[in-house]
Amino acid sequence: MAKINDNYLKLPGSYLFSTVAKKIAAYQEANPGREVIKMSIGDVTKPLAPAVIEAMHKAVDEMGTAEGFRGYGPEQGYGFLRSLIVEHDYKARGIDIEADEIFVSDGAKSDCGNIGDIFSTDNKVAVCDPVYPVYVDTNAMAGRAGEFIDEHWSNLYYMPCTEENGFTPELPKERVDMIYLCFPNTPTGVAATREQLKAWVEYAKENGSVILYDSAYEAFITDPEVPHSIYEIEGAKEVAIEFRSFSKTAGFTGTRCAYTVVPKALVVEGTALNALWNRRQCTKFNGVPYVIQKAAAAVYSQEGQKQTKETIAYYLENARIIKSSLAEAGLEVFGGDNAPYIWAKAPSGMKSWEFFDKLLEEAGVATTPGAGFGPSGEGYVRLTAFNTKENTQKAMEKIKAVLVSRD
Ligand code: PLP
Repeated sequence: MAKINDNYLKLPGSYLFSTVAKKIAAYQEANPGREVIKMSIGDVTKPLAPAVIEAMHKAVDEMGTAEGFRGYGPEQGYGFLRSLIVEHDYKARGIDIEADEIFVSDGAKSDCGNIGDIFSTDNKVAVCDPVYPVYVDTNAMAGRAGEFIDEHWSNLYYMPCTEENGFTPELPKERVDMIYLCFPNTPTGVAATREQLKAWVEYAKENGSVILYDSAYEAFITDPEVPHSIYEIEGAKEVAIEFRSFSKTAGFTGTRCAYTVVPKALVVEGTALNALWNRRQCTKFNGVPYVIQKAAAAVYSQEGQKQTKETIAYYLENARIIKSSLAEAGLEVFGGDNAPYIWAKAPSGMKSWEFFDKLLEEAGVATTPGAGFGPSGEGYVRLTAFNTKENTQKAMEKIKAVLVSRD
């Protein structure tokens, strides 16, 4: 008889976003005509840049000609895109990464999940708490997480990110093999300093660990001191894989294009992970569509850079409005300076869901309860900067009215 992968049966239901959606729907039904402003949106809302659209149209037309038609492309991505990535995202920052270390893909989410394929299920995995749930769930699916008991997986090493440690994880007190780091962070919006990343690279070197570095929000970094890539740290190429995405950088959440860097210097048990990942991709992946890779390439054109940066600045201005308004309303707020996320502490020791309910019911503003990202997210809510500026301002006025009249 066929057997299933019963690790899937150990997964708890993913209630966070569906519960949020249900609560919003129930509120709207009970209060017809009352607007709900969604500061919970985890997706971009601005359209693709004109330079991107133009390149995409051109590529579509090419596909309709005998000379321009393309079938299967290289599994690792077209050379034109891989070399643009190398030039703009690495060489321009003084980082020596080669084109055959770049693997173009359909998303950082898939790559963060799929990367586990090339690692032993015996590895000890460290994750931040709160965390982007993909790292945890994909390791649970692979059988690396153990059992789910009292909101924790028995075999994972949790690194609490709390107000006390500035929402940056402390080095593990025991040896761990795989370490997921995400900066600027989902959900806290906090970025890591060069010194902090240095300590992680040193830890990984000393312990033979591999760092899985998710920098999907790199484009939101405004502080010149904050590294954009883990490879800005000396020696990182020997210990880290980096995930990047055009999703938040250039509005590709629906268009799908990302890339993963696996340096050739990263060798585990005598095997180069670059060769293993290449083998995995060639076997299980048939590449990102030509039209989409052309669109991604246009992000690096002069116009593309200007237009996508304007959109990022628009979202960052929303983040600034959220952060300053919530502070004016008396809340403790974190993140938002180098990320589109603001992590707000609920007042008077309120729990995440209680504060979520209050903001929804009294202000008509939807947030995401922090507890949904892990036990250490309890007592916080996450707000995103992806709504329009007008809605963001309106939502902040409503929250201020509720919180200020509270006292
Ligand atoms: N990594 C993090 C930390 C994210 O928050 C997200 C999206 O929300 C992703 C990756 C997904 O990226 P992509 O759209 O490239 O799959």
